[in-house]
Amino acid sequence: MNNILEDKIIIAGPCSAESEEQLMCTAESLYKQGIRTLRAGVWKPRTRPGGFEGYGEEALKWMRKVKEKFPDMKLATEIAKPEHIGLCIKYGIDIVWLGARTTASPFAVQDIADTFAKRPWEEWPFDMVYVKNPVNPDLQLWIGAIERLQKAGVKNLGAIHRGFCLYDNKVYRNVPTWQIPMDLKKLYPDMKIICDPSHIGGKRELIEPLCQQAVSLGLDGLMIESHCNPDKALTDAKQQVSPDVLGYILANIQDRVSQMLESSNIVSEEEAKATAVTLLRMFRDNIDLIDDEIIYKLSERFKNCRDIAKVKRSCGMPVFQEDRYREVLEKFKVKAGSLGLNEEMAEQIFATIHEESVRQQTEIAKR
Ligand code: PEP
Ligand code: MN
Repeated sequence: MNNILEDKIIIAGPCSAESEEQLMCTAESLYKQGIRTLRAGVWKPRTRPGGFEGYGEEALKWMRKVKEKFPDMKLATEIAKPEHIGLCIKYGIDIVWLGARTTASPFAVQDIADTFAKRPWEEWPFDMVYVKNPVNPDLQLWIGAIERLQKAGVKNLGAIHRGFCLYDNKVYRNVPTWQIPMDLKKLYPDMKIICDPSHIGGKRELIEPLCQQAVSLGLDGLMIESHCNPDKALTDAKQQVSPDVLGYILANIQDRVSQMLESSNIVSEEEAKATAVTLLRMFRDNIDLIDDEIIYKLSERFKNCRDIAKVKRSCGMPVFQEDRYREVLEKFKVKAGSLGLNEEMAEQIFATIHEESVRQQTEIAKR
């Protein structure tokens, strides 16, 4: 039995509330899938001006209607300004979160914290206040936002890992850099940290593996964008999945320990955990060996590059040879693809190696 819905915090719903019909139809289908917390953005901080910025208070009315129909459904939305808090209370929102762009701005976070500080936490009607990581990979900035809210008396604080924006991201919309949420977990072992695979992946195909990764790392839950008609979504269309697809994804996510308990003749949880630890050690040992090989091979490769630089210098050839670069890049990608690897990832790795090679060769050319 897959008990992800019982064991983990699962929040799902559209990126944006777009109409009463869209929200209700998505909520009904999610309810059928066992989801009991609906997310929907009503104020949408857009990176560039001119896009759809959410229906604000109007959309909160649609959210309240969902609650009228499904009283045991919790409602969650993003807040970005102090006045959003009062409106969320007016329409019965249970859970609020600070978005990645807000967390990146200490003044904006402080304004929200100051509002919370006006009353003791027990008087606020919210179950949870989550803080998404800032857009940039800066653990201190994430911690800073959490501390501002803690100092304001907010007790039920959680964090959402939604990946980090790097220039030229290719595979992911926002790179996961799992080490950062894991470091946060070490600092706040009792705080719920959930993962938002939708904004990390930016595309549907990546939702399932990212959910699996988050669960395997022991994160406490998932916040996933789901829309009754994803292709027609006004925001983030490529990364939203229909409630049916979400149901399928969640049914496939397994906690490896419980999987072992079910599929083999291991009888106790202790035994399953011990087997998991052994397997983990074995796979990690393999990975360590492979990593050693990778680094050794890289050092050999750069040695060759430096020798080539001397040849180029002796015959007055420039270091960077575009045709050769394209040819090697193409071979690398094709090879990666034939091995079932992601070609974009391969391209990124090759570009990094090549850049370093040009740097080392240029040093030699200058001598
Ligand atoms: C969102 O959850 O729809 C959103 C805008 O996310 P983020 O703040 O992570 O970009
Ligand atoms: Mn979104």
